[in-house]
Amino acid sequence: MGCTSSNIAAAATTTSNPTHKVGKSSGQHQVLFFPDPALPCRYGSKCRRGKNCEFSHERTSLVRFIQFLRHTKSSIDICVFTITCNDIAREIMDLYKRGVKVRIITDTQQSTNIGSDIAKFREAGIKVKEDHTPHHMHHKFAIIDCKIVMTGSFNWTRSAVLNNKENIVVTDVKPVVQAFTQEFENLWKAFH
Ligand SMILES: [Zn+2]
Repeated sequence: MGCTSSNIAAAATTTSNPTHKVGKSSGQHQVLFFPDPALPCRYGSKCRRGKNCEFSHERTSLVRFIQFLRHTKSSIDICVFTITCNDIAREIMDLYKRGVKVRIITDTQQSTNIGSDIAKFREAGIKVKEDHTPHHMHHKFAIIDCKIVMTGSFNWTRSAVLNNKENIVVTDVKPVVQAFTQEFENLWKAFH
């Protein structure tokens, strides 16, 4: 059972996310742009390398992106052409391990590429579906807790983070969440 219009409606009245105070009206938005100057340092403020650390200690777009993932409470539906970024893959695994319901739709060709995290997700028990067509499952969106959509050009890859001009819109506008939910459910039914 995925997101239905009733739980989207319920979620819309209790919207919260890591970066915004909740107002009465819906309409929390955030736009992230890539590339980032560096991948985030895993040690954060505990890093001892100071200026010698090649990783970023700033609130980069990837850090903010990951914070959205990290605040998932009950479900995340991911529909992304390709996932190879280890920082993001680790976060998805962590969500799954703490009981979040994770569903992933991805592109068949991309899923077998070297560096793809799809096999790892499957081994861990995460439900993954593919398009199984010669065409591309080219979407890049995710629905968090039936109430937040993240969508844009951004593939969940290291080179998208570090090299590419990419964007992501994060929004809880209800009709947008409903439309993406419908698309996800349609694809989830159609693919295996
Ligand atoms: Zn560091």
